[in-house]
Amino acid sequence: MTRRVLVTGGGTGIGRAIAQAFAADGCHVTIAGRRRAPLEAAADRPGMEIRVADVTDEGQVEALFDAPYEVVIANAGTGVAARIEDVALEDWQRTLTVNMTGTFLTFRAALRAGMEPGGRLMAIASTASLQGGAYIPAYAASKHGVLGLVRSVAHSVAKRGITCNAICPGFVDTEMAETAITGLMSRHDIPREKALTMVVGGNPMQRLIAPEEVAATAVFLASKGAASINGHAMSVSGGEI
Ligand code: NAP
Repeated sequence: MTRRVLVTGGGTGIGRAIAQAFAADGCHVTIAGRRRAPLEAAADRPGMEIRVADVTDEGQVEALFDAPYEVVIANAGTGVAARIEDVALEDWQRTLTVNMTGTFLTFRAALRAGMEPGGRLMAIASTASLQGGAYIPAYAASKHGVLGLVRSVAHSVAKRGITCNAICPGFVDTEMAETAITGLMSRHDIPREKALTMVVGGNPMQRLIAPEEVAATAVFLASKGAASINGHAMSVSGGEI
């Protein structure tokens, strides 16, 4: 039977790579996001479908689940880099709402829609789920929250043969990492090369992680062989954590 997979934020970056990996595996993949154009550009394989939805909107998230999915990946996310003194309340709230509440609404709707045994819930969390940083108070708070949610849902679904896990990447080569790099360039008045060195400095492999490496982890966690991996925070960070 063709597995149905939902990837939120599936039009760009990590979500796009995950969607394409599952589509290449023969799954029917629905990608969701707020902007139609990147979704249309990303849905370039047979068996891919796009849905415009904001993960912070309860009704729009529930409307994605007109039929149950076998694999649901809460990937949509956002972040701002600033020390706590400089974080506007609006930015704090948006970060928590997209990253944490968006993941909650997505998982809740997946389970309410009747996810079957063998089902897989995943959150694209972050190494910021496992450690803080001076410039990421809102992002790290939200991603720690995502991990708490994942660990709790894992207990709740375990007897039903469903798993819930977090994938925790370090810096991945996407627009989000690019924003971090350009932010460092302007904050410290340094060239791109130096900013990139700072960004990859935390990763012992001294490089950005490829979105496809995160996608391969998601495909593994969705495999039958991963049936006993539950409530796990899988670091994909070259040994950073
Ligand atoms: P990205 O390219 O900016 O992807 C973020 C995606 O989320 C976009 O497709 C965006 O699409 C979607 N999105 C944002 N807000 C949304 C909302 N309210 N409703 C629905 N979709 C929304 O960045 P990325 O690096 O691939 O990030 C994907 C995930 O990986 C995020 O959760 C991020 O925190 C996590 N992560 C990234 C890194 C990294 O270094 N890149 C490292 C660790 C974890 P629309 O704007 O069209 O809605």
